[in-house]
Amino acid sequence: MKININAYAKINLYLAVTGRRENGYHDIESVMQSVSLHDVVTVSAEASEESSVTLTCSDPSLPTDSKNLAYRAAQTYLNVTGMDHVAVKIHIEKHIPVAAGLAGGSADAAGTLIAINALSSRPLPTKALCDIGARLGADIPFVIRGGTMTALGIGEILSPCEPMPEYPILIVRPKESVSTAAAYAKIDENSLFSSPKTLDGMTYALLSGSLESIAGAAYNVFEEVLPEGTEVFRIKSILEANGAALSMMSGSGPSVFGIFNDEDTAKDAADALRAVGYESEICYPVPSVEDNCTSDCSSCGANCPYSKK
Ligand code: ATP
Repeated sequence: MKININAYAKINLYLAVTGRRENGYHDIESVMQSVSLHDVVTVSAEASEESSVTLTCSDPSLPTDSKNLAYRAAQTYLNVTGMDHVAVKIHIEKHIPVAAGLAGGSADAAGTLIAINALSSRPLPTKALCDIGARLGADIPFVIRGGTMTALGIGEILSPCEPMPEYPILIVRPKESVSTAAAYAKIDENSLFSSPKTLDGMTYALLSGSLESIAGAAYNVFEEVLPEGTEVFRIKSILEANGAALSMMSGSGPSVFGIFNDEDTAKDAADALRAVGYESEICYPVPSVEDNCTSDCSSCGANCPYSKK
């Protein structure tokens, strides 16, 4: 049996770091949003003498062994559930930019967990799937559930928010790369553990549904530790000059997103970015997956991550 999952990227509408734990992990306050930019994860599971995982990927620069988060997700699922006679094959069609602050690896891991679970004769509830995901990466519980959520703790304590309205979102990938570890180190050095805005400010803005309010409540602490003159600021100013109501870096970067009131303005901004050498992608918010969703479920609408093959 084979199943295709759309593994959606995420952006952060709000991201503050509130402290550093003794084990080196950081506590965060965030509002995360799934977006329609996605990889496609195809998973098959067949009875076999002993369990195994194999992975292929359209992007040859990515590892296909246990360094790939999706591979580790499959292994962990098989170990936790004691499934020892299953050969799992995973193929990832990569569209989400890598190491870009869009949780692409986490999305593939989440897609793999969702797929194996859907193929299992005794599927786990979403909560148990999120617990397995949390062992592998702090963003994985969110990308399993998707939608619009606040994330506390190291990112694993999730609560649904009012879904973001269907505003077009332009995602731009700068050519520079950033080191997540170095960005966190700068936050530690400067003790940037308080925020000029609040998580509640964003959840109220989402309740209002107004893009201007959402823009007013948006914040990403990682923008404060970017070096001067970085491309991120240049891209933000191009987005703003071309009608974005909100432009911000996602996660620890370097991807930048712009949110617009209408698609025509977003397309014009994409043209303006292309003219100066930046490719971008128009996408839309994606709603949360309903609990108990299956490959036959139609309740999630057009954006349901389960697509039948
Ligand atoms: P986050 O937003 O969660 O910090 P990211 O979007 O910045 O993540 P990823 O695209 O997940 O970053 O990639 C981070 C690293 O993980 C890369 O160096 C890559 O080699 C590795 N990796 C492992 N598995 C995958 C995968 N399936 N897709 C992308 N990267 C992967």
